[in-house]
Amino acid sequence: MSRRAPSRGQDMLAFAAQLYPICRSISGAGVRHTLKLIRERIPLRLHEVPSGTQAFDWQVPLEWNIDDACVLDPHGQRVVDFKAHNLHIVSYSEPISMDLPLAELKTRLHAHASHPDWIPYRTSYYRRNWGFCLPRRQLDTLAEGRYGVRIASSLARGSLSYGEFVLPGRRREEVLLFTHICHPSLANDNTSGMAVATALAAWLAQTPRRYSYRLVFAPGTIGSLVWLKRNEKSLARIRYGLVLGLLGDSAPLTYKCSRQGQSEIDRLAPYALRGLDPGSRTLPFEPYGYDERQLCSPGFNLPIGRLTRSVNDGYPQYHSSGDDLGILSAASLEQSLEACQRIVQAIEDSRHYINVLPKGEPRLGKRGLYGTVGGQSPAARELARLWVLNQSDGAHSLLGIAERSQLPIDELTTIAAELTAAKLLRLKADPKPARGRSAVQSPRRSRAKR
Ligand code: ZN
Repeated sequence: MSRRAPSRGQDMLAFAAQLYPICRSISGAGVRHTLKLIRERIPLRLHEVPSGTQAFDWQVPLEWNIDDACVLDPHGQRVVDFKAHNLHIVSYSEPISMDLPLAELKTRLHAHASHPDWIPYRTSYYRRNWGFCLPRRQLDTLAEGRYGVRIASSLARGSLSYGEFVLPGRRREEVLLFTHICHPSLANDNTSGMAVATALAAWLAQTPRRYSYRLVFAPGTIGSLVWLKRNEKSLARIRYGLVLGLLGDSAPLTYKCSRQGQSEIDRLAPYALRGLDPGSRTLPFEPYGYDERQLCSPGFNLPIGRLTRSVNDGYPQYHSSGDDLGILSAASLEQSLEACQRIVQAIEDSRHYINVLPKGEPRLGKRGLYGTVGGQSPAARELARLWVLNQSDGAHSLLGIAERSQLPIDELTTIAAELTAAKLLRLKADPKPARGRSAVQSPRRSRAKR
């Protein structure tokens, strides 16, 4: 799992740079353009959900598109120009053309609270509004006079777009990977997540796998709510999941637990991250963040954590023009992708075995199972064999054995294969996959309610 191709990080960085200038929002041309670029790399299935569609307590809003926006100073000069940076416009600003005095205009202007040179990121999806964002330094220099505001946008019945990439495995049970695609020119949040998720999908597609994998690229909040609404009957298939985001900055790899806190992904992900970076962090669940807010709401309570580096609002440039491509690095993106791959591999490897000679220790010597293999000392190898044999009563997965023995799961996987070949171990059959609606009552998962 530690194969490293340095160009992968560079490729993700280049893709993030390609996605960065697009003016995304929770609907409209920017999201479609983004999905089109992702689709050039992986076979994404596109979905359009009409405005007005109900998703639990929420509704798909009108579709927003924008061609141009500016503030004109008293001399008619464009002093705030959407064409220069798409963060200058409050996302979902309604169309407007009017002139007004500076004092009145200022009630519509937003500057960053602490950094005078950054443009803040502001949205108003669910309340009709308009406004501009600009650096504090510029705001403070605006002279008195009458200003013009021109916003060539549209709010009209249309649809919300999202993309889905499904890789059927040998089991119908699924690993759900979710990333938001609604932020305009912000690099770590969220071009990094899109770049890593796209690369992960391409990697997953190379090899047939035990579990089925589903990657969803959707606008934050309303996108996951719509997805949950449309997939409510098949949620019981989800055995593991990750929300992916903020994966390109220099903060350490961070896993945020699911609401369940003790689900298998909550044990497995921190374990996989520690193997890659001893400085990685695990954080408890909190009802703040990205789409885990919906996926882990009590009515779903899915076993889905979040893989991130910085947490939201956890770095100074968060939600401002300071979150530009300069804070991404190929090495961080590469390591984030590798973290995803290790988690996937741990999910695939965490199987249950049964010791077929459980009464006493089997004699390893007469089966040729002593000696140095793969550079390990015979003692270490033997200890790993003893752990696997001792714990393989069908109740303990390789993950559980790895946790208890403090041995790497990939090493235990190799040992289990070797012991299986020696007819000392047999693989416990996977439980029959959950199917359709009846799966809702599956005892495998504890669900708060349906
Ligand atoms: Zn954000």
